[in-house]
Amino acid sequence: MSEVLVGWGGRTPSVSTVRVPRSEEDVARELSTGEAMIARGLGRSYGDAAQLSGGVVLANRGLSHIGPIVDGVVTVGAGVSLDELLAIALPQGWFVPVTPGTRQVTIGGAVAADVHGKNHHLDGSFANYVRSMRLITPEATLLVSPHEEPELFWATMGAMGLTGVVTSVELNLSRVETNQMIVDTDRFDDLASVMNEMRLRDVNYQYSVAWVDCMSAGKTMGRSILTRARHASANDVKHPRLDPPGPARLSIPVRAPSFVLNAWSVRVFNELWYRRTPRHEEGSIVPLGTFFHPLDGVRDWNLLYGRRGFVQYQFCVPEENADAISEVIELLARSKVASFLAVLKRFGPGNRAPLSFPLAGWTLALDLPVGSAKLPDLLDELDRIVITANGRVYLAKDSRLRPEYVSLMYPRLEEFLRVKSRVDPHGQLTSDLARRLQLVGG
Ligand SMILES: Cc1cc2nc3c(=O)[nH]c(=O)nc-3n(C[C@H](O)[C@H](O)[C@H](O)COP(=O)(O)OP(=O)(O)OC[C@H]3O[C@@H](n4cnc5c(N)ncnc54)[C@H](O)[C@@H]3O)c2cc1C
Repeated sequence: MSEVLVGWGGRTPSVSTVRVPRSEEDVARELSTGEAMIARGLGRSYGDAAQLSGGVVLANRGLSHIGPIVDGVVTVGAGVSLDELLAIALPQGWFVPVTPGTRQVTIGGAVAADVHGKNHHLDGSFANYVRSMRLITPEATLLVSPHEEPELFWATMGAMGLTGVVTSVELNLSRVETNQMIVDTDRFDDLASVMNEMRLRDVNYQYSVAWVDCMSAGKTMGRSILTRARHASANDVKHPRLDPPGPARLSIPVRAPSFVLNAWSVRVFNELWYRRTPRHEEGSIVPLGTFFHPLDGVRDWNLLYGRRGFVQYQFCVPEENADAISEVIELLARSKVASFLAVLKRFGPGNRAPLSFPLAGWTLALDLPVGSAKLPDLLDELDRIVITANGRVYLAKDSRLRPEYVSLMYPRLEEFLRVKSRVDPHGQLTSDLARRLQLVGG
């Protein structure tokens, strides 16, 4: 069936033929047609990674098997969402060791982006918890793991679906005693203070994230709210419970008019958010879903950005070039382009995957509504700052990077392309993102 597909940012729609394989054999049969194709999960990547103009998109949602959890290990179909997995795992006292800011991503999407959470500084990214996975390439059906076909295993992590279609994943889960978090919150008047605090004491917390007001300039540039947390043990709460997070309570029914989010309304929102937070609060008990996935409470919140959509610009830079974070925030504050509270996190060391995004240092994610005439030049300038700082942008969020920048940001790109050529010699696996960024082997 032909469908208009678009990423979460709503910016670059295209028409693909969507098919829904229900088994490994179905996926292999699809690939044997030789047609250009790419897999798609829940479409939570922001740009054009899960669509293919004029080609075939394999919706992974038919791969929906969840096996029993044995000693914290589960085998799960690539189309299962973290929400669905948690609905089964949490009541048994198991949690996903890495979760992005939404539960509405599939296991296939989590592998393809090698997603990270608020615990990367201690625990690393999703790939670190994958024991093995079934992968269908245009030429073979394989079991890949850090020990079997390790080169292909690592090349697949963060590769945005370009080495093959993952059909199932054997995943390590982590033990929890409750569905609650113990959260400490602190407010900081400028960027330097929040970054110093994170450098000094993030190690004491499993989870840490700062919300930065990028529209505040001068002495309060980069003022922030830092929330850090750990899982509550059964002794920490009166009535320990393990029921999973519930569905969204609110939804945005239609696309808002594009003028709703402008520099003025965003500034007001940021101001209110900042002021309603206490300067220091310790030990609040918060449901797990509220801490990890606050935006999941509002279905289709992205429609608030209107018809033109928005760009999420997420980048990371190594610790030694941390100044790039303040450079970016200063530029944003000066430009007066509307930008919601940005998300700042610390990353621990990256892993062996050539296209995995995280590297030891800092990451900042900015939500920028499309509309301001200044936005394209501003984003180009951000790219230059990131490249000069030996950093990179996150492909799962990208919809506009220039192809010549990819090898500068991902110095191991050639290594990835060699593996891709080996397993997909005719470049059958491709996407709008892959075409735009020229991610083709050969
Ligand atoms: C509100 C929100 C918060 C987020 N927070 C974070 C965060 O904190 N950290 C983070 O890392 N990311 C975050 N993300 C991004 C998100 O985790 C990734 O983009 C993820 O890949 C989306 O998964 P999906 O199932 O929606 O996949 P899609 O967006 O549909 O696809 C993403 C990629 O996965 C590939 N893919 C899908 N299924 C398969 C498969 N079976 N085999 C091979 N490739 C496949 C697609 O080809 C595509 O390249 C966030 C996104 C949103 C909307």
